[in-house]
Amino acid sequence: YGKKKGKKMFVIFNEELRLKEEKRIKLTEILKKSLENGDFYLVYQPIASLKTGKVVSVEALLRMKNDELGEVPPSEFIPILEETGLIREVGYWVLSEVCKQINVWSERGIKDISVSVNVDIQQLLDKNFVQNVESILNDSGVNPEKIKIEITESEAMKFPDIVIDVLSRLTDFGIEIAIDDFGTGYSSLSYLKLMPLSYIKIDRAFIKNIPTDKDDNILVLSIVNLAKSLGLKTIAEGVEERVQLLFLKEIGCDYIQGYYFSRPVLPDEIEEIIKTGKTVQA
Ligand code: C2E
Ligand code: MG
Ligand code: MG
Ligand code: MG
Repeated sequence: YGKKKGKKMFVIFNEELRLKEEKRIKLTEILKKSLENGDFYLVYQPIASLKTGKVVSVEALLRMKNDELGEVPPSEFIPILEETGLIREVGYWVLSEVCKQINVWSERGIKDISVSVNVDIQQLLDKNFVQNVESILNDSGVNPEKIKIEITESEAMKFPDIVIDVLSRLTDFGIEIAIDDFGTGYSSLSYLKLMPLSYIKIDRAFIKNIPTDKDDNILVLSIVNLAKSLGLKTIAEGVEERVQLLFLKEIGCDYIQGYYFSRPVLPDEIEEIIKTGKTVQA
């Protein structure tokens, strides 16, 4: 009996895997045509100052909605874009779209908002990357000071020498750099010092259990102090609760991003948030 049952479970397991794999293949095929089909769009999440309570910038986050599949979560389609290398082309689309949006906001009276754009390491390693970024910005007339580029710590530390060179050329052009998901990527401190960074984004995993988890409290405090000693600003990711905000304010973290203040939203809602002057309330 035991044997039989084991066999059956094995079959079910295989069937599940097969269906999952089929779905993946289907999604991959669809993603190859998503740019021309107009399946991609962007949402924006506000980043607010803990000093003034005001929104200082927004992060652009990629979304995908397809006629056949409906809304596909980023956790499903972004890894496929990365594995297939499609993220390079899509990444340039994201930057162009952000520039267009900055111009639209500007026409509507929102002039001093800056936008963070996530860049994948594959895009950054493209030898024309800096040139392409400069072209997109020049063509749209967007001031480079309005764009921030985010690269994850773990990806940046894979090829630190090249990354330092590319990021330096971007900062020469006027773009600021943030290191994303900080704390999860085993930074070499000597490389960290050499990177032309302006911001450290503390990964959500460390923010999640403050202030109850004493170890996480110490880790977050250490990251904030490390950033300060390097002359960098800190942004806490994934702030969902008031107690987290109070702790972060207390230890001198500069900015927060998270559901507590706002989820990622469509451009019109960003306009609303800015125009009504919504502030972070502790
Ligand atoms: P990320 O750059 O670290 O972005 C922050 C993620 O945390 C976003 O997930 C955001 O929706 C989520 N988030 C924000 N506040 C909260 C909160 O309070 N609680 C929780 N639980 N989550 C929160 P999202 O949009 O699903 O994006 C996931 C990741 O996908 C991003 O992480 C980024 O690495 C990547 N990604 C998104 N858009 C792009 C893009 O245009 N290009 C590239 N290369 N990667 C992108
Ligand atoms: Mg990011
Ligand atoms: Mg990535
Ligand atoms: Mg992050």
